[in-house]
Parts: sequence; structure tokens; C-alpha cells
Amino acid sequence: MRNTMHYSGIITNYSCSAACRHCMFASSPRSGKAFITGETAERIVQRLKSAGVRSMHIGGGEPFLNFDALCALLKEMQRAGIGVDYIETNAFWCRDEEETLRRLRIIRSLGADTVMASVDPFHIEFVPLERPIRLVQALRKLGMDYFIWQDRFLERLLPLDLKTTHTREELAALLGEDYIEDTAQEYGVKVNGRALAIAKKLYVRQPAEKLATAEPCAHLLSGQHCHVDLYEKVVPSGCPGIAIDMEDFFERRLPVEKYPCAYRLYTGGLKALYEYACGLGFEADPAGYPTRCSLCYAVREWLHKNSPSDDVAPGCFYREMERTMEEE
Ligand code: SF4
Repeated sequence: MRNTMHYSGIITNYSCSAACRHCMFASSPRSGKAFITGETAERIVQRLKSAGVRSMHIGGGEPFLNFDALCALLKEMQRAGIGVDYIETNAFWCRDEEETLRRLRIIRSLGADTVMASVDPFHIEFVPLERPIRLVQALRKLGMDYFIWQDRFLERLLPLDLKTTHTREELAALLGEDYIEDTAQEYGVKVNGRALAIAKKLYVRQPAEKLATAEPCAHLLSGQHCHVDLYEKVVPSGCPGIAIDMEDFFERRLPVEKYPCAYRLYTGGLKALYEYACGLGFEADPAGYPTRCSLCYAVREWLHKNSPSDDVAPGCFYREMERTMEEE
């Protein structure tokens, strides 16, 4: 049976104005300047349409970093009749009301009438709170829909100076010394991507042999909440750094020669990937790993350097993750 997608998204770029501690895609200002083009957007959208996909959300990185690229994607979606569930943004660009309203009117004319504004103790290290607040006010003024991800954090952060960003120390003074770990847990999302650095503090390390079980990561071909990136690859839900060509994803094909990593995870779980990497020379950290996904990332990071394959991508993710793990 052919595959399709539900509740899934399109990644316009991996670069971001922020580098949040929980970012699944380890996006940052250092992630390069590649943005989706009109031609790529057309190919992606046409393929989605032929797979019966009716709507997608748009995220990044930060989609508003290159407004022309975002609009090019919106135009293709509008032309193909694929709905925009919502656009995610950290609102860094909402510096004044006039520009905020101008951009919102444009996206609305291109079929996007719902925006997700990111607000939490991680984003506020990079984006002053007044900007998502300005975004929400502008959305209300235009009668557009929105949601704040996550509302509960907005309440807690309001005592801070809204006009500036805030340091880890300032946030710890307001929210408590363990606010990073508490926020990650409260988010309730799967700990992966840059949040693997937080996982080190949340979970007791276990030996690689214990974590590398044979339970297949069968969701790698699931169409629920996955993403298609600007390189026309599908990033499986919750598994950044794994890339599957759209065509193969929709046809449910994972030939081992083309996908030495994804195929093993899909069929034989982390055990199969771990044994494959050990056979190539990977040596596990004797101190162990906090989670299965931490070990999976460590193995893939090693493969990315020592036995590269197209399914261990994109490079910007691994470069940024390596920096994160060194810094923490
Ligand atoms: S072990 Fe790897 S493939 Fe499986 S869920 Fe974790 S990151 Fe994804």
C-alpha cells in the first residue's frame, strides 16, 4: 500500500534567528543560508498532491527569515489546492506593527490564515517577548487565527522585561534552577535533536548494549507528523538527522544499499544499526547513554563522519549537534 501524510509539515530552511535548547532540528543562525526555492517548492507540492496530501503546516528553522522563499512555497500550495494548517514562527521579525501587519496580509492572501507563535523559556533567550505579543495583537486585528506554543509559558514569562532577551541566569532566578530540565519535561515532546543535551541531565546513563534493542523503529515510514525539508527529503517524526527521499517514502521503499542506516533501524531496530556501526569501527562511550535516541544519534554522528550515506543528513544538523554536545 502506498504511503501518505497527515499532520505533517514542510521545512523551508534549517537556519533560524534563534538556537533554542529544545530545537528538534538543531536550527541556528549557523545552519547555513539554504532556503526553499520556487522550483523545489513546486516539485514538493506536486508530489504531495499526487500522494493525496490535503494540507501541511510550514516550519523551519524560521520560515520568516526569507519571506520571499516562504511566499514562493505558499503560492505553490495555493496553486495546487493544498491547505496551510499553520505557519510556525518565533516572531523575531515583528519589530513594529506596520511590518507585522504587512506580512500577515500577504500570507493571508496566499492562503495562510493561522500562525503558531513560539513562546517559552528557550525562545526568550533569543527573541524579546514583545515580538510574539505584537504578532498575536496583529493577528487579532486582522481576524486571523493563531495559537501560542505554549500559552502557559507566556503567563510565567510576563514578569520579565518584554523589550529584551533574557539569559539563563535571569530565567533561573524567575523560574528556578532546574527550569531547563523542567521545561523540557513539561513540553512533553520526544527528547531528540538539541534536547539530547538536556537528556543527559534527565536520565541515568545505561550501557549501549542494553539500549540497543531489536524493537524496530517502524514509525520511520509513518506519515503522521513527519516533515519534508527543502532538500526534498522526508524527516521521520521525532527522528531528526534521518533523511528519506520523498519518492521512496511514498512508495514505502527502503533498499539497504541506499538506506544503510534507515533500513536497519526500520527492520532490526537500534540493535541492527549499532552492530552495523560496530562492524565498521564505532566504539560506544563506556560511560553509556541516557536514552536509546541518544545512542542512535551518537552512532549516526559517527557514521556521518566515517561512513557517510544519504540517509544520514542533513549535514547542517550534524554540524550544529556536534557543537551543542561539545558546549554542554
Ligand atoms: S532510536 Fe533512532 S530511529 Fe528510533 S526513535 Fe530514536 S532517533 Fe528515531
